[in-house]
Amino acid sequence: MISTIFPFRCALCGIKIESLGLCSRCWTKTEFITAPLCALCGDPLGYWGENTLCNACAALPNPFFRHRAVWKYGPGIKQLIFKFKHNHQIWLTEFFGYQMLRLLLEYYPEGRLLIPVPLHPKRLMQRGFNQALLLARWLSRRTGIPYDYSSLRRVKDTDSQGLKPAQERHSNVGQAFHYCPTFPLPINVILVDDVYTTGATLKACANALKAKGVHHIRGITLSKVIPLGGFKNVNDMLELDSPS
Ligand SMILES: [Zn+2]
Ligand SMILES: [Zn+2]
Repeated sequence: MISTIFPFRCALCGIKIESLGLCSRCWTKTEFITAPLCALCGDPLGYWGENTLCNACAALPNPFFRHRAVWKYGPGIKQLIFKFKHNHQIWLTEFFGYQMLRLLLEYYPEGRLLIPVPLHPKRLMQRGFNQALLLARWLSRRTGIPYDYSSLRRVKDTDSQGLKPAQERHSNVGQAFHYCPTFPLPINVILVDDVYTTGATLKACANALKAKGVHHIRGITLSKVIPLGGFKNVNDMLELDSPS
């Protein structure tokens, strides 16, 4: 009887719950990223403004790429993603997928193709699956947006970025991806990954696509590391979204 009323278990603490995901206590260990957001990277900002950027994006704008994440990176999310990636708790795909679906519908309704961030073949052999592919495939099934897992390849094994500083991460992953485009070139591409740390990986993917002529590249992740720092209004500095 109890198992009928509470057919699920909390993904963090394991107690029986009524619906897929977390118990009410464990939900408080996670924090959604909510607007106002940096127009590019999706960091939460201190005030509302059109095309407002965080300091990092104002200093180094990447106007053809935007990103949105579900949660701020913190201990609860770290634990959940660890279970997903390293404890093979694949069932979390559905829970995570629902959270990403909300972002996709809200921010990228124009999305036409999902591209999961690829793993290097060596890493794929070790793990046995690509978590980004699981998420992209789930989103594809729910939305009808196709996904492409063959055109973007990771040609350098840079998955273990560990605690490398941001600058080193960017140079390490800079040439790590190779994109063999399909024709006609896709538009409104959404890159899918689990965690955005410095953005080095997603930006390298976006650069690989952009180099072959793809514009309007977006990214969604489960969680983003939120750096300390302020924000800056640069409405007039950038013409966001303009294909160049
Ligand atoms: Zn719990
Ligand atoms: Zn930003």
